[in-house]
Amino acid sequence: MTTRGGSKIVGRSKAVPHTGPELVRDGLGVSRGIAIGTVYLHDAGTITVPELRIPAARLDAECARFNEAAANAGHQVEQLQDKAGRLGGSAGEELGYLLDAYRQMLHGSRLVRGVEARIRNDRINAEAAVQQEINEIVRGFEAMDDSYLAARVADIKDIGRRLLRALTNTAYRPFTALPKNAVIVAEEMTPADTALLDPALVAGLATVVGGSEGHTAIMARSLGLPSVLGMAELLVGVKGGEQIIVDGTSGLVVINPRPETLAFYRKERAAFLKARRILGRLKDVPAVTRDAARITLQANMELPGEVGAVLESGAEGIGLLRSEFLYMNRDDVPSEDEQYLILKDVVERMGGRPVTVRTFDAGGDKLAPALGCTIGPNPSLGLRAIRLGLARQDLLEAQLAAILRASAHGPVRILIPMIATVGELRATREVMNRVIRRLRKSGVALPDPLPKLGAMIEIPGAALSADSIAWHADFFAIGTNDLVQYTLAIDRSDEAVAHLYNPLHPAVLRLIQFTAQAAHRANIPVSVCGEMAGDPRYAPLLLGLGLRDLSMTTSNLPVVKSRIRALELAAAEGLARTIMEQTDSGRIGQLLDAFLAR
Ligand code: PEP
Ligand code: MG
Repeated sequence: MTTRGGSKIVGRSKAVPHTGPELVRDGLGVSRGIAIGTVYLHDAGTITVPELRIPAARLDAECARFNEAAANAGHQVEQLQDKAGRLGGSAGEELGYLLDAYRQMLHGSRLVRGVEARIRNDRINAEAAVQQEINEIVRGFEAMDDSYLAARVADIKDIGRRLLRALTNTAYRPFTALPKNAVIVAEEMTPADTALLDPALVAGLATVVGGSEGHTAIMARSLGLPSVLGMAELLVGVKGGEQIIVDGTSGLVVINPRPETLAFYRKERAAFLKARRILGRLKDVPAVTRDAARITLQANMELPGEVGAVLESGAEGIGLLRSEFLYMNRDDVPSEDEQYLILKDVVERMGGRPVTVRTFDAGGDKLAPALGCTIGPNPSLGLRAIRLGLARQDLLEAQLAAILRASAHGPVRILIPMIATVGELRATREVMNRVIRRLRKSGVALPDPLPKLGAMIEIPGAALSADSIAWHADFFAIGTNDLVQYTLAIDRSDEAVAHLYNPLHPAVLRLIQFTAQAAHRANIPVSVCGEMAGDPRYAPLLLGLGLRDLSMTTSNLPVVKSRIRALELAAAEGLARTIMEQTDSGRIGQLLDAFLAR
């Protein structure tokens, strides 16, 4: 799925001369397709504010307006502090200190005094005064050779943004006034930012920062947005409003394309859309190999609005509903009722097809402020997913209750992310049983049998102890994204090491095989729901390793189905046997590609 575009540039340069004002950038193609649109420069960190002169008679009022905004921002921070207090443990404590520092910055601090002085002395509006004061503090901190202060720069900027939002009454809802066919060009997009993009308004995405298996990439794929991430030079020489092409298949971005380049990509886009239409005809045919092995293909879902696309793709169910996205882009936690209504709607619209809801996997690169998640010293190894759920059982209970109530409306399974130990799964089952007792006591209808409780196998230690976890799990879902990340110690969101992120590493394949075998021995279902499942290149290998249930981003489902229908399971098993004897991932890749080229 990911394509390093380097070699493609050479190949394409014959057809696409790129001289003159045309700029070509090479990155990670993370979501297939071609977008032709207009550059929209997104700067998450800046709310643009004009500088206005304030008459002397209105200076007191302007200061009062600023103080009111500081009080509002302080109030928000206090609410966050309350939540942090409930978090408990060292994460709660650390977040508490940070928020305390934020609160102090908003009450009579150098920042507050500095802004008031600027309003009065320079006779400017509060917004401009905040912007200038923040810039000066940041410059001062950056100039000092002190790593602690350097790390505080992000906090100061955050306080500045909070103040500007309070002053301008800007809710945190970017991407509302976009030009038609906007292509978002940014230094970085968080998964939460990406979740706000409306594919009806946004044609594509290009960023400086980002890896191929990070949640921003996953979100872009699930929105079907052609996207290229990880282009160090992207912002050099690019201006808002310019024409831009994003080739998410090859990992190329062309800014200011020459007419012949444009003509070339228009044809490419038409060919891509035609191929997609043809694949769309597979919607109602089963995923069955040439030698009659039936494979189940399900969809991964990131946003509640995706059910239409899931059904349209021909998915047989939702194999992974990433519920953490319900918690993003908001300052509070969704209540049990709110979650129940959203999940009930999804379950009902799936019309009897199974829905596997994963409990929230916040943390890592998926930060939900409402949950009080901080980045922490090592976010991927910190208090995330079920660790956070077991530390904040009030949140976990509310979510389990919502899922259980939704399960009365159709087949539902409950999936627990980042299981590392049997103990975590047992503790989760205890919480679930407690919730079931509470719901029954209050007369809530629950299905019989109750939803199955499964474990994500995405930590190498869990894969290696899959045999014992299988005793306590009703099913397994293999999360290859994190499994690769933790096995190879490669940050899945970091473009600098993206070329080292390799699902074909023999260690990863052994862990997948071992997990599948453990599930088969324990007679429990096992699926793959990491991005590997949605890449047609890996389909023969996964089938050959014994997997029969794959869950993926909806846009890739038809192409995976088409690959499966062209396969013979017996040959795929032979391929897997040969591959599992190899020690070199390069050789494994060659064997796989030779198999596909037959
Ligand atoms: C995975 O890790 O493979 C997975 C499916 O979960 P996520 O991508 O949400 O971490
Ligand atoms: Mg994961």
